[in-house]
Amino acid sequence: MFRQQRVEYKSANQIRTMREAGLVLSNALDQTVAAARVGISTRELDAVFAGVLKDAGATSNFLGYHGFPASICTSVNHEVVHGIPGDYVLQDGDIISIDGGAIVRGWHSDSARTVIVGTPRAEDVHLSKTTEEAMWRGIAALATGKHVGDIGSAIDDYVSAAEGPALGILQDYVGHGIGTQMHQSPDVLNYRSSHRGPKIKPGLCLAIEPMLVQGRVETSVLDDDWTVVTVDGKRACQWEHTVAVHDGGIWVLSAADGGAAKLAELGVVVAPLD
Ligand code: MG
Ligand code: MG
Repeated sequence: MFRQQRVEYKSANQIRTMREAGLVLSNALDQTVAAARVGISTRELDAVFAGVLKDAGATSNFLGYHGFPASICTSVNHEVVHGIPGDYVLQDGDIISIDGGAIVRGWHSDSARTVIVGTPRAEDVHLSKTTEEAMWRGIAALATGKHVGDIGSAIDDYVSAAEGPALGILQDYVGHGIGTQMHQSPDVLNYRSSHRGPKIKPGLCLAIEPMLVQGRVETSVLDDDWTVVTVDGKRACQWEHTVAVHDGGIWVLSAADGGAAKLAELGVVVAPLD
């Protein structure tokens, strides 16, 4: 779990290229989320996403990753992560996490959003809102914290104190460093741990991606060798952004506004690189 490989610290120019990959991804997710509705198949959503990357001259870091057959993961209801797009047609009230990434000139981005199609259940709205807010708390901790472990502590504290039905934080899957590869050191835990992780310093680029569940946190993998589901069949949710630390502060590379609006609510001023 705790990989000890060297962390790849990025220069300002490398972060600027990662921003390009983040903006292509943000646009692709905008269009995929807009297409997500009752009656559309997850394969059709994958085609929407892939089309945006192609038009932008970017490539997918998901397609072909250890043999993964699509450009996004579509994880519906009790599927947590790594769902494979296919024939499944979205039904009224489904909650779907759409996770994708892009490569521009060798630099990667990775981001996920959750959508509820048709008539939402109140408990699913709570699940998605709490997961998204937990992600932003984790991102804010990258600006204010000292070690990567502070991100997980911020997420854990927020989820533990959140109003409404209690939600579980998945421990089997975590966030990660990102740069010349999609998955790099260090691991980014979504929970409080005695493992402080490396120091936060300029050049660190992370994918911060809490995954929350309505029931127990135990998961299993389906026979397709990809799709991760909750063992108790309760619903799950994931939100994710790629974020950079540089000399001037943090910048949410996969958010169109660089994270400015959400982080302002949390007292953090983002620092875009011109
Ligand atoms: Mg992802
Ligand atoms: Mg990721």
